[in-house]
Amino acid sequence: MLKNLSMLGVPLDLGQNRRGVDMGPSAIRYAGVLERLQALGYQVQDHGDLTVPKRYDQDIGEDLQHLQAVVETNRRLAKKMDEMMSADAFPLVFGGDHSISIGTLAGISQHYQNLGVIWYDAHGDLNTAETSPSGNIHGMPLAVSLGRGHDSLTEIAGGLPAIKPENVVIIGARALDAAEKTLIQESGLKVFTMHEVDRLGMSEVMTQTNAYLSHCDGIHLSLDLDGLDPIDAPGVGTPVVGGLTYRESHLAMEMLAETTDITSCEFVEVNPILDEKNKTAEAAVALIGSLFGEKIK
Ligand code: MN
Ligand code: MN
Ligand code: MN
Repeated sequence: MLKNLSMLGVPLDLGQNRRGVDMGPSAIRYAGVLERLQALGYQVQDHGDLTVPKRYDQDIGEDLQHLQAVVETNRRLAKKMDEMMSADAFPLVFGGDHSISIGTLAGISQHYQNLGVIWYDAHGDLNTAETSPSGNIHGMPLAVSLGRGHDSLTEIAGGLPAIKPENVVIIGARALDAAEKTLIQESGLKVFTMHEVDRLGMSEVMTQTNAYLSHCDGIHLSLDLDGLDPIDAPGVGTPVVGGLTYRESHLAMEMLAETTDITSCEFVEVNPILDEKNKTAEAAVALIGSLFGEKIK
C-alpha cells in the first residue's frame, strides 16, 4: 500500500433525510484517525472537508431528493479524487452519506481499466428513481456507478459506467429491495449476504473476495458503517439488525491488509447525532487501523 495518504471529508447529508451525517468527518477526526495513521508510519495530507451545499430551502423533489445539490457535490468530489490520484496518494474519504460514492468512484475509476469495488453494507444501494422506495440518493450510488440512473448522476463519471458488474463484491447485505434483488440476478453481481457470511465465515468470504477481484488493477473499499450490526455501530441513519460484528469487520480489514491491494477507500454514514458516545466513529477509526496494517501484537 502507498505510504502517502490523502484524507478528505465530504460532509454531505442531502442523499438522505436524517440530520447529523454531515458531522461524520468531524466525528471520525475526533476519534483520532490522523494520529492512528501517523503511528503506523503513514504520511498523511489532510485536505480538510469538501464544501457542500447546506440543507437550504431548495426544491427537494420526490423521486430524486436534492438531486442538483448531490450532483454538484459529486462533480466536485470526482475532480478532487482525480487530483489526489494524479498526485500518487492513496485517497481515504470520510462521509457524509453514501451518495458520495458516486463522486469518489467517478474520479477514481478514470485511473483504472478494471476497478474492483468491495461494497460493505447492509444495503445494496442499487436503486434508481424508478425503483427507490424513498427517493433518497444514498440508496442509489452503486446503481449509478454501474451506469444506471438519472443522466445527471451517471454522467458524472464522464459517459461510461465507472465500474463493471463483474468487478463488484457486496458484503453484509441484509436489506435488499425487490428491484435490487432483480438487478443482482440479472447483472450477476457477487453478493455475500449475511446468509453467506453465516455459512462460510468471514475468513472464507474474504478469501473468496480476494480471488474474485484478483484480475482488477485497483480495488476500492466502500464501507458503509451500517454494514456493521447496530450494537457495534449505532450511529447510522438506517440501522438494520443482524449485521456484521465488530470482530468480523476487523477480520475483514485485517485480511484486506494482508492479501488484497486496496487502492482507495471511504467510510460513510457515520451520524454522531444518532451515536452513543462516538462509538461508531471510533469503530470506523479502529477498522481503518486494521485496514492500514495495525496488528494486535
Ligand atoms: Mn450504503
Ligand atoms: Mn447501508
Ligand atoms: Mn442500514
